[in-house]
Amino acid sequence: MSIEVKDISKVYGDQKALDHISFSVKSAEIVGFLGPNGAGKSTMMKILTTYINPTEGKAKVNDFDINTSKHNVQKSVGYLPEHNPLYTELYVREYLNFNADVYKVKKQRIEEVIEMTGLTPEAHKKIGQLSKGYRQRVGLANALLHNPDVLILDEPTTGLDPNQLVDIRNLIKTIGKEKTVFLSTHIMQEVEAMCDRVIIINKGKIVADKHLADLREDQEQIVIVEFDYRVEDAFLLKLPKVIKVKNTNGFVYEITFSTKKDMRSHVFDFAHDNDLKIIQLNQKNTSLESLFRELTS
Ligand code: ADP
Ligand code: MG
Repeated sequence: MSIEVKDISKVYGDQKALDHISFSVKSAEIVGFLGPNGAGKSTMMKILTTYINPTEGKAKVNDFDINTSKHNVQKSVGYLPEHNPLYTELYVREYLNFNADVYKVKKQRIEEVIEMTGLTPEAHKKIGQLSKGYRQRVGLANALLHNPDVLILDEPTTGLDPNQLVDIRNLIKTIGKEKTVFLSTHIMQEVEAMCDRVIIINKGKIVADKHLADLREDQEQIVIVEFDYRVEDAFLLKLPKVIKVKNTNGFVYEITFSTKKDMRSHVFDFAHDNDLKIIQLNQKNTSLESLFRELTS
C-alpha cells in the first residue's frame, strides 16, 4: 500500500480537524481528496508528510510508519504544500540546487525534473518572474527531486487560469502514470479531470470513497413524484427500466431507473394513462457534483 491511514484524529485546542479518518491508497493511483475549505485536507496531508503529528491513530506511507519511521516517510513522499511557498528572489536552478543539496541528490537530477515538468523554457528566470502555472511547475519539480514513490499535492490547481489549469492537470496525470498521487482540491471538476478515485471529506470525516469509473457507470436516475392519491408500489414497478420504488412520505415516491435518460415524461404518461394526478415531479441527480453538494451542504 502507498498510503494507509487508520483511525487518525487531529485536535487543535478544542477544534477537531480530523475525526477518526481511515482510508488507503494503492500504488500508481491518482486519488482526489475533495472537501470544502476547513474540511481537514491540509491537516491530513501535513500528517502524512510528517510535518505535524496526529493526536490519535496510525498511518503508513510506502509501508513506513509516520510516527516511528519519519525519515523513511520523508524519503518516500514528495510534497507540494498549499500556496506553494517559493523564494521569489532565487533563480529556478538555484532553488532546485539548494533542495538537491538538502536531499543529497545528484545535480543531474535537477535537469531531469526541469525537463519532466516542462520548465525548460523558463528555467533561466527568477521564480518571481514566473506565472502562477510555472511556479506550480517549480513546486512539482521540487517535489520530484528525490524521486519519491508518493506525491502529496495540496490544492495544486487552485488559483490557476484556464490554460495553466489544463497544463498542470496534464502534467499531474503524466506523473500519476508512474507514481502514486494524492491531491487535494475543493473543486469537484478537478477530481473529474484528473483522478481515478475520490475521497470526500467534510468536517473532519470521510463521507464518500468512490472510483470515478463506478460513478460514471452509475447509470441510475431517481425520479421523485408526488401523486394526489396513494399508489401501490407494485403498480409503479410496471414503469419501463424501473429498479425500485420507495414511498418516502405521504403520496411521495422515489423511483429509481436503470438509465440516465430523463424518465419524467414516462412517469407523466403513466400517470395520465392511469388517471393519477401529479402534484410534483423532479429528477434527483446522482452525479459526482450533486453527491458532493449533498454531502457537504
Ligand atoms: P482544509 O485544508 O480542508 O481547508 P485544514 O486542514 O486547513 O482544512 O483545517 C481544518 C480545520 O482545522 C479548520 O477549521 C482550521 O481552521 C483548523 N486548523 C488548521 N490548522 C490549525 C492550527 N494550526 N491551529 C488551529 N486550528 C487549525
Ligand atoms: Mg487546505
